[in-house]
Amino acid sequence: MIKPFIELSDTLIQVKVPLPFPLRWVNSYVVRSRDGWTLIDPGLHTAEAEELWNRAMEQYGLSVGELRSIVLTHHHPDHYGLTGWFQQQSGAKVHMSALGCEQARALWGEGETMSVTLLELFRRHGMDEGTLALMADHMTGFVSQVSPQPDLSVIDPGNLFPIGDRLYRPIVTPGHAAGHLCFYDEERSELFCGDHVLPQITPNVGYIPGFDRDPLRSYMNSLEEVSRLKVETAYPGHREPFRTFGARALEIVRHHEERLAIMEASLAEPQTSYALCRAYFGDRLSIHQLRFALSETIAHLIYLRDSERIKELDREGTVAYVK
Ligand SMILES: [Zn+2]
Ligand SMILES: [Zn+2]
Repeated sequence: MIKPFIELSDTLIQVKVPLPFPLRWVNSYVVRSRDGWTLIDPGLHTAEAEELWNRAMEQYGLSVGELRSIVLTHHHPDHYGLTGWFQQQSGAKVHMSALGCEQARALWGEGETMSVTLLELFRRHGMDEGTLALMADHMTGFVSQVSPQPDLSVIDPGNLFPIGDRLYRPIVTPGHAAGHLCFYDEERSELFCGDHVLPQITPNVGYIPGFDRDPLRSYMNSLEEVSRLKVETAYPGHREPFRTFGARALEIVRHHEERLAIMEASLAEPQTSYALCRAYFGDRLSIHQLRFALSETIAHLIYLRDSERIKELDREGTVAYVK
């Protein structure tokens, strides 16, 4: 049984918000201040999450009327889902990067077009019609877990950003999500790192049409960059706060270098991303896992193509790759 609330300091509470998939929970952080509280990444919108938050607010005397602001590291449903629920009760502003806001609108705004675009991408990369139909159902199933939609305010990464009573430097950290931000307290060497660097698990890096052309390259560059920050404690989006931030960032870079080499080596004959994904990740993935595995495979193949290590072939609308 997971203990859902952990008081990390007088002003910081970690709340483990449940997730109905293998990650099990997402970390939200409550930052108390003189005039109220701030919420970082409130979690996925489910009945269990609402119930947990009501308990947390009661236990720690957090009145929803004193919620001053909601800050998002990125737009993924497991972090963003509950923002509208909190904003409706409190009127608090919701802050995210410009690209994060744009993707949230493209994914869940009125007249969204992203699910059609993604299905088209998966088809071009070799997914069969039966699996595409399952994927379409899966995507519409997510909408309730990110509703209602909040009003969004854009964070300018050029300025220090207040969280609680302290000022943080927003650091643009693309790769896992376009527009992902980490928030750095230089004086205390503390970092809210969202899903950019996680202990034990490797963050997913997926290709999404219309945003980052080569997300894996952005990710590896950004990891190298943040590995040089002085970080005593990192507060991640999943698992527990950790102290080995720089070393972990470089370990993830090496993981991707190894995987790139394996994929390159398996392309003596032309293959689609989907075939390669099935070969690499196996046949037992849930449809949810398959979505991320395929986006990740595509991101790796784009990186190899743009490095001129493999070639892209277009065969009547289906894309394949070969060494
Ligand atoms: Zn994420
Ligand atoms: Zn996450």
